[in-house]
Amino acid sequence: MNKKYRKPVIAGNWKMNMLHSGTKDFMDELKPLLPKTRGCEVVLCVPSPLLYGMVKACRGTKVAVGAQDVSVHDKGAYTGEVSASMLKDLGVKYCIVGHSERRAYHGETDELVNAKTKKLLEAGITPIICVGETLEERERGLTMDLISLQVRGTLCGLTDAEVRRCVIAYEPVWAIGTGKTATAEQAQEVCEHIRSVVRKLYDAKTARSTVIQYGGSMNAKNAAELLACPDIDGGLIGGASLKPVDFSVIVNAACEEE
Ligand code: PEP
Repeated sequence: MNKKYRKPVIAGNWKMNMLHSGTKDFMDELKPLLPKTRGCEVVLCVPSPLLYGMVKACRGTKVAVGAQDVSVHDKGAYTGEVSASMLKDLGVKYCIVGHSERRAYHGETDELVNAKTKKLLEAGITPIICVGETLEERERGLTMDLISLQVRGTLCGLTDAEVRRCVIAYEPVWAIGTGKTATAEQAQEVCEHIRSVVRKLYDAKTARSTVIQYGGSMNAKNAAELLACPDIDGGLIGGASLKPVDFSVIVNAACEEE
């Protein structure tokens, strides 16, 4: 599918790693390694206590700051939760929802991810909606059906204009943090499928405008091949986003694709 309608988004997911005290040094190392052009969006999704410092450290750079989760509630007695308006107020531009770790350890369902997506859109924050199959589901031949269900469930009730403001991340669970990357063919096949589901649910314009990332052990060595696939518009990167040099290699590979 023609990539000219989409700008790649390279998003790092720091998970529960790094410290507030280390963010300035990280950015000081990363900044000179980033491309001068604006050929792709660069995002770092950091733990909540690091958001404020990271927004400050990223000022004047092309790096946007993202969160890793959001509450479905607006405000009130929800101890430990962080609302979309709080993220917005801090200057957060993106937020991951439905990461497989949250689905696995916190029982998050497509319905909940859908509700969180709506809260983010209302607040003007770009949701990065994660979908992906387990190894068992892949081996049982269920990948495409499962992905269709997840895409339909997480986008339920959104308008075409809202879907165009979302990023969808295909993250095969078996490839996350395992060092086992999907082949470019496997990743492309599922990303193309996601686009076709969006086309069926909405229309061709929405499908060709929606950014679809691949995530799962993407690194400085395999990024260029994955990012060259016609339906892969960027990456969601865990481990490799903790190292400024490796992360910058991936960002540069995405910018060269343009
Ligand atoms: C992730 O956390 O979304 C991820 C893809 O991790 P990793 O790159 O380490 O596999």
